[in-house]
Amino acid sequence: MSQAMTNSNGSAMGAPMSDIVSSTAKPLVLVVEDEAALATMLRYNLEKQGYRVEEAADGQEALTRVAESQPDLVLLDWMLPSMSGIEVCRQLRRRPNTRDLPVIMVTARTEDQDAVRGLNTGADDYITKPFNMDALLARMRALLRRASSVPTKGKLVFHDLSMDLAAHRVQRNSRFIHLGPTEFRLLEFFMQHPHRVFSREELLDAVWGPDIHVEPRTVDVHIRRLRKSINGPEELDVVRTVRAAGYALDTEPL
Ligand code: CA
Repeated sequence: MSQAMTNSNGSAMGAPMSDIVSSTAKPLVLVVEDEAALATMLRYNLEKQGYRVEEAADGQEALTRVAESQPDLVLLDWMLPSMSGIEVCRQLRRRPNTRDLPVIMVTARTEDQDAVRGLNTGADDYITKPFNMDALLARMRALLRRASSVPTKGKLVFHDLSMDLAAHRVQRNSRFIHLGPTEFRLLEFFMQHPHRVFSREELLDAVWGPDIHVEPRTVDVHIRRLRKSINGPEELDVVRTVRAAGYALDTEPL
């Protein structure tokens, strides 16, 4: 399932807070904090605002909780015993399922350098202790809204890839990607049918058209070009090769 298009709690995410309170689909927040008093304070305030709350007291527990409960947002303390918040964030970003999970870093440090480091590891936002609860809530709402924003018409989103069909533009993360016309149509077709495996013949039919007669291996050439264009050096290969069957746009290896 594409993280960019959906979230585990469904439609309530983009609603104003008053609607979230009355909804059964309350966003789940994972509070990762080793100071018990602060964790309790956060839980109290977040539950009062209609969030569901889970807690983790260290980095390892945080990773386990994320995998098990699939929270909608993580409040991640910077200074944690054994594994730092930065390392937790790095690991979350490395995993396809949590790559887009909203993370707010909570730090006692005030130096800008540290904040920048936090954002470089993939945190979406940060807030410094002692923080104002209203300010934190506002940031959380903004992040949750962004995470659940429904793609507008003419825009396709898959994982960290987006295609603006009207403007004929492709982006991965925030980087613009230039594609040849065939690669563009190929990616558009894949993004309209993510996770589905297509044979070379089906791709020829759909992308080149039934009247065009080219060798099936032509597809392989264009798949190779597409991969080269959309996969940056540190990025996941989102085009899956299924031996003897064809290709699919997918974030899972097999
Ligand atoms: Ca701490």
